[in-house]
Amino acid sequence: MNDFEVVVIGAGPAGLAVGLNLVRARRRVLLIDSNRPRHAVSLKSHGFVTRDGISPLEFRQLGREELEAYDEATVLQANVTDISRKGDNLVVTAVERGGDEHVIEVPNVVLATGLTESFPEIPSLRQFYGTSAHSCMECDGYGYKDKRLALIGETEDVAERAILLSQWSSDVVLMTNGHDVVSDWWKDKLAEREIVVDTRVIADIEGQAGGVLTGVRFADGDLLERDGIFVRPHWTPSVNFIDSLHVVRAVDGLVSVDNEGRTSEHGLWAIGDITPPGPEQLMIAAGAGQRLASVINRTLLGLQ
Ligand SMILES: Cc1cc2nc3c(=O)[nH]c(=O)nc-3n(C[C@H](O)[C@H](O)[C@H](O)COP(=O)(O)OP(=O)(O)OC[C@H]3O[C@@H](n4cnc5c(N)ncnc54)[C@H](O)[C@@H]3O)c2cc1C
Repeated sequence: MNDFEVVVIGAGPAGLAVGLNLVRARRRVLLIDSNRPRHAVSLKSHGFVTRDGISPLEFRQLGREELEAYDEATVLQANVTDISRKGDNLVVTAVERGGDEHVIEVPNVVLATGLTESFPEIPSLRQFYGTSAHSCMECDGYGYKDKRLALIGETEDVAERAILLSQWSSDVVLMTNGHDVVSDWWKDKLAEREIVVDTRVIADIEGQAGGVLTGVRFADGDLLERDGIFVRPHWTPSVNFIDSLHVVRAVDGLVSVDNEGRTSEHGLWAIGDITPPGPEQLMIAAGAGQRLASVINRTLLGLQ
């Protein structure tokens, strides 16, 4: 376990792309993944050329099979719990589901662990998430062309997101769940596009099993029928295990990197959704991963 040049943590598109392109440069790579991808709730992923409509799990499976076909690749299903410094190396601790622990000493570690999401406190929201409630308009908006839509959000960027959503339907209601987050300036902009703002507290999302939505029930008893919901979650990067390294962070706790993917910690790189500025999409994460592989390979040769 200590003969690797690079450990990649996370087997989403970012980690898979960096791993694949590093082993193709004959680098010995260990990919560690806990197999809890954020987009697993979705039935279909969109927008990745040649794979539009593929299931997220199939997408990841294909990527993993491609990587594992190389002698230079090793894949470990485990949860990374800690990274610490030891001289020029980093020490990665990973724990398998059965409890087996691995401690790996390595000069380069790539963080590609993605985000976790938390939602407004609406009891049944998670039950519909991925089927008739979504967060990414660019990913899922097209399936709701001209449908009756709600955008639920409690943050100050919701007005801008509601205007974006109106690209897919002219029937958009912005619901702030009791939060006063839409300024008068934005109210005027929303009115220009006939987007209604409803600030009432939401009691729940209603519908049938299988994610078929009826609508949004407010605390005052009213039901507004809707065909689809877009929600604005809070995103947190899944990197608690680097806390002892004091890596510089950006807005919302995202990991700060230079133009090439270096963090403030020597030998520690970051890629994909956990780095600014987004947008958070499969091809963007994969493209960034391929670029980072080239940077790491050149760095290991002393060329960068
Ligand atoms: C519901 C939903 C639907 C989406 N639909 C689309 C779409 O249609 N099209 C599109 O382009 N984008 C879509 N996205 C966005 C897309 O999924 C992300 O932008 C992309 O997956 C980010 O890739 P990543 O490699 O950075 O992280 P992720 O894909 O999130 O992968 C991170 C990996 O790291 C692992 N990990 C986390 N912590 C640890 C740890 N401590 N130890 C080991 N492993 C760890 C996780 O298990 C996971 O496998 C969607 C997102 C969501 C939430």
